Amino acid sequence: MDESAKSRGRQATLYQWGAPQSEPMVVTRGSGAVVFDDQGNAYVDCTSQAWSLNVGYGHPAVLEAARQQLERLTHVRTAFDTEAKLELSAKLAELVGKGEDYRVLFTLHGSLANEGAMMLALKNRSESKNFVTLWDGYHGRSFATRAMSWPHPENSFLHFTGNTVRVPQAYCYRCPFGLSYPECGMACVDFAERAIRASSDGPPAALIMEPVQGNGGQIDFPLPYYPAMAEMAKRLGMLLIWDEIQTGFGRVGEMFASDLYGVKPDIVTFGKAAGGGFPLAGMVARADLGYFEEGDFSLTFGAFPVSIAASLATIRVIEEEGLLERCRAAGTRITAAMKQLKSSYELVGDVRGPGLMIGVELVKDADSKEPAIAAAQWIVAEGKRRGVLLGEGKYGGRTSVVKIKPPMVISDEQVEQVIDVFSSLVAEASDRFLVPRRVSA
Ligand code: PMP
Repeated sequence: MDESAKSRGRQATLYQWGAPQSEPMVVTRGSGAVVFDDQGNAYVDCTSQAWSLNVGYGHPAVLEAARQQLERLTHVRTAFDTEAKLELSAKLAELVGKGEDYRVLFTLHGSLANEGAMMLALKNRSESKNFVTLWDGYHGRSFATRAMSWPHPENSFLHFTGNTVRVPQAYCYRCPFGLSYPECGMACVDFAERAIRASSDGPPAALIMEPVQGNGGQIDFPLPYYPAMAEMAKRLGMLLIWDEIQTGFGRVGEMFASDLYGVKPDIVTFGKAAGGGFPLAGMVARADLGYFEEGDFSLTFGAFPVSIAASLATIRVIEEEGLLERCRAAGTRITAAMKQLKSSYELVGDVRGPGLMIGVELVKDADSKEPAIAAAQWIVAEGKRRGVLLGEGKYGGRTSVVKIKPPMVISDEQVEQVIDVFSSLVAEASDRFLVPRRVSA
């Protein structure tokens, strides 16, 4: 790290509480899929700023909608409506409900959207006190949602959180039962049901799951897993909450993962990309569920009008600019290139999708599948030096998954730049960390 970066890092930790910055960076502006730092360096941002800028940095249509709203009204308490809020609610209810009645609740943070969903589930399952989540799931860092997420080993708040039954997910690359799909017959679903029945004191209120796990390691599941888990939730009388905070708004090549996997959850939560770069989150829930009473759920800044206007514009941009197709095309190209790398380098253990939600799991050798954590960290750090920002699984070196999740507006040229940089990094990391190339290389 150069001296000026170090001193900026010192400044960052002097004056702020926040996530530790391993590679301090002061960002100044962004455009499309590219972000610039205060040294004038440009980066293709495959992190989309915590996977939020699906339509890219500063999309003109989103900025214009926000600007117009800004001039009219910047704040109303959640008890009031605005025209844009009514329009966005109708649009989201239609996108998720597809002809069935769904209702929308807004928050600004994904964690609070999930808490809202959990509270709504409790409201409708008043005899329940437990929730079911999947291993490696991540649902937020608020007080209640951290207990629904993978257990952080140094969780200082452990004593205050709980009521979670965590069951193994269909992480087929590292099947906890040592089985292979499809011969396994999805033993994990059967096991999950037995574990829930044996572990939960009474029927749980809900199963909350990410259709594609993001933070926990970029893990998608075999197609039949989705309906099988939905049926299991029904059998156990639990509501099904899909946390689409990462998968929503085009990231998987459809507006929502529920479109891609053909499952209709009782509640879908959204966030991140929903506001096109402005903070917005919330839930869309079946309208026949018993709803909150006054005072059950109330947030001062629950529905920031500027974010609502930006969100309407974001959805229009996704629909009118064909960004779902763009996401699928760019995703297919990058995924194919990563699979090609896998055939040449043992370091590349697994390549996962869908869309532009790509994870590359790095291993020290193909047989032991020991996570190549140092190599993954080196690739992320070195990628930055070569103008490509890549993401890490979990954080603090807890997985060896490198993530490639750029904005959907990424150009073909930028796609090739990412592939070139990543390919040379894999080749160099294989030598540097002594991971053999495959025979075919
Ligand atoms: N759910 C998922 C799937 C997430 O990825 C995140 C954020 N990484 C959250 C919930 C929490 O959202 P927020 O940080 O906006 O509270």
